[in-house]
Amino acid sequence: MNLTIKDVRAEMPNYATYKDWQRSGPILGIAIHHSATADRTTGAPIGNAHTFFDYHVNQRGWAHGGYNYVITGSGEIEYALDEKIAAYHAGFADPDNSEGLEHGQYWNNHYLAICLSGWFSQGRTYRDSAGRTQPIPNNFTSPSAAQMESLLGLIQQLRRKYNISVDNVRGHRELAGNATTCPGPTLDPAQIRAALRAADEAEPAPQPEPDLPAQVDPGEHVLLLPDTDKYLNAAMAYIWKFQPDVSFAVDEARGRWPYVTAVGNPETISDEQLTRLRLGGAKLVQRIAGDPSTVQTTLDKLAQTGLRFVTKPDTPPAAWRTYTVQPGDTLSVIARQMYGQAQLWRVIFDANQDILTDPSRLRPGQVLKIPPKPE
Ligand SMILES: [Zn+2]
Ligand SMILES: [Zn+2]
Repeated sequence: MNLTIKDVRAEMPNYATYKDWQRSGPILGIAIHHSATADRTTGAPIGNAHTFFDYHVNQRGWAHGGYNYVITGSGEIEYALDEKIAAYHAGFADPDNSEGLEHGQYWNNHYLAICLSGWFSQGRTYRDSAGRTQPIPNNFTSPSAAQMESLLGLIQQLRRKYNISVDNVRGHRELAGNATTCPGPTLDPAQIRAALRAADEAEPAPQPEPDLPAQVDPGEHVLLLPDTDKYLNAAMAYIWKFQPDVSFAVDEARGRWPYVTAVGNPETISDEQLTRLRLGGAKLVQRIAGDPSTVQTTLDKLAQTGLRFVTKPDTPPAAWRTYTVQPGDTLSVIARQMYGQAQLWRVIFDANQDILTDPSRLRPGQVLKIPPKPE
């Protein structure tokens, strides 16, 4: 399918003041909204990126309009807010972070926001100038075929770009902490996911190439060497050649370097620590493991060939997934869903020691890290 996307970012209100903002952390999912705007006499969708952004910025006082993409009633896709900028709309108040969702900003930080113009509900009403409640006709209560086609095409494109699983494509009302009917009671996000799964089967997504940067600037790459005594000699030629920053404190590297080469076995640097670095925004995290002579062979070869990174990471980031705990979930239920085997619950428990203390106590909304299925 040929996707036409109209880039309207620079025309949106307040563009100059927010265009360089960044999300805190990677994009992990997509949130679908509706605008809850309908023509009073026909029920048809009204509004586009301009009117929504104008309302949010000029009437509500927001810094920007809150949606990365808007799909109008006729199915036109508008790119309104840079993908790298956090969305609004899906945040909630959680000052002491009791849900473990970044003080209520998890969904805005990690999910792209797509808004469908329209109001997907039966029995819509408005207040007339005399304050009386008036009905809006029950027409256009679901997205149009053109809107649906654009939505599915856009979602597939974004899923491939960011390696987003179907499970992380959600309606606004499915995001923990949010109390809303958005994207409308007559729009079922499960049907959207079913359509995406069908599209995946028809045309499987290509596995993305590992993101190897062409050029790394000074200060962007760190070599983590927690076991210095053991590995410093093995790493000397590599350090001499590429002059990365060198650090011994793995956890302090979170959020500081976009490229991380970690030297050491899982006993010294756990997979979970590496995952935390990725969640902290690192674009590339690679482990060089083995005994000192194996490590030296690997690093010397990289230095000789001028390749800063190995082309096949041991643990591709795509192999790790996340899962948001739903009411009634147990670790066994989640293990069955993610691995097809309930008895693998312990793998999930072990990988989430930072937030789980008791395997029988899960809190809805907790975001669990799901390691690849053990061999
Ligand atoms: Zn919404
Ligand atoms: Zn709004």
